[in-house]
Amino acid sequence: MRFEDIKTIGIVGAGTMGQGIAQICAQAGYKTILFDINAQILQKAEATTASNLSKGVERGKLTDADKQATLANLSFTGDTLTLSCDVIIEAVVERLEVKQSIFKDLDAVNSPDTIFASNTSSIPITRIAAGIPNPERVVGMHFFNPAHIMKLVEVISGAATSPEVAETIRQLALKLDKKPVMAQDSPGFIVNRVARHFYVEGLKLLEEGVADVQTIDKLMQASGFKMGPFELMDLIGVDTNYSVTSSMFEAFHYDPKFRPSRIQQQKVDAGHHGRKSGKGFYTYE
Ligand code: NAD
Repeated sequence: MRFEDIKTIGIVGAGTMGQGIAQICAQAGYKTILFDINAQILQKAEATTASNLSKGVERGKLTDADKQATLANLSFTGDTLTLSCDVIIEAVVERLEVKQSIFKDLDAVNSPDTIFASNTSSIPITRIAAGIPNPERVVGMHFFNPAHIMKLVEVISGAATSPEVAETIRQLALKLDKKPVMAQDSPGFIVNRVARHFYVEGLKLLEEGVADVQTIDKLMQASGFKMGPFELMDLIGVDTNYSVTSSMFEAFHYDPKFRPSRIQQQKVDAGHHGRKSGKGFYTYE
């Protein structure tokens, strides 16, 4: 698939990341279809998109015509997964078997040319592509949260990814007004590999009783970080952040420096997933 030939983009997963990715694809002029198995999440994604676009108009960053054109480009579906598009970007839960099963299902209804991009934060692209027909079209396209605002996109080639596919995705990222960086395929790639310790060490301080959540966050902010680790985990999704750490712990052969925290696991078990569930390390209205 050449960049110039991309007309339609399908996004699988309408949660924290999928909603924003779909919004920017539609804003860039692509016919975009957003799919999720959860009808409530799809409805929320539709409302969030309309609200984000309205804010853009209020702030003078978009015209009302831009907003209407974006909405006209975007459709939402929760029926069976039969998306047939030029590029598919998956943004579902951070679990290898779920991502692979989605691409296998989509293989049956897409041309061998359709690019399968994963927004995974940590799972090696080589692993996701293993067992997918035409693995040369599987690539990492890792956006940052919030996807409609953050500029960085890591473009990751797995062992089988063709250079043409990686280049098409790099150009697509530019068209979405992002700053693409080519990254090697390694668990967590570049940013999450380095940033993991921000969360893991913050949680260790909490477990050891060195300081409480608010103190750690305030100190990290005072030292120049935009957010402390707990605020950031609430924004990311405590469950997603926990899955990413667990995936990296396993991928690095249980290196203790990536060991997931029991406190975080308890939050996940309790359904305290952060902003998206109304409660995480903090409580939200
Ligand atoms: P999320 O929990 O907010 O959303 C995941 C969505 O996937 C949910 O709406 C769920 O209903 C849907 N889903 C689950 N199984 C599905 C299936 N079989 N078919 C269709 N939809 C399905 O998660 P998120 O935070 O948006 O993360 C999604 C992906 O993006 C993960 O791989 C994560 O690592 C990555 N990521 C997350 C962030 C972040 O800050 N949250 C940043 C970059 C990358």
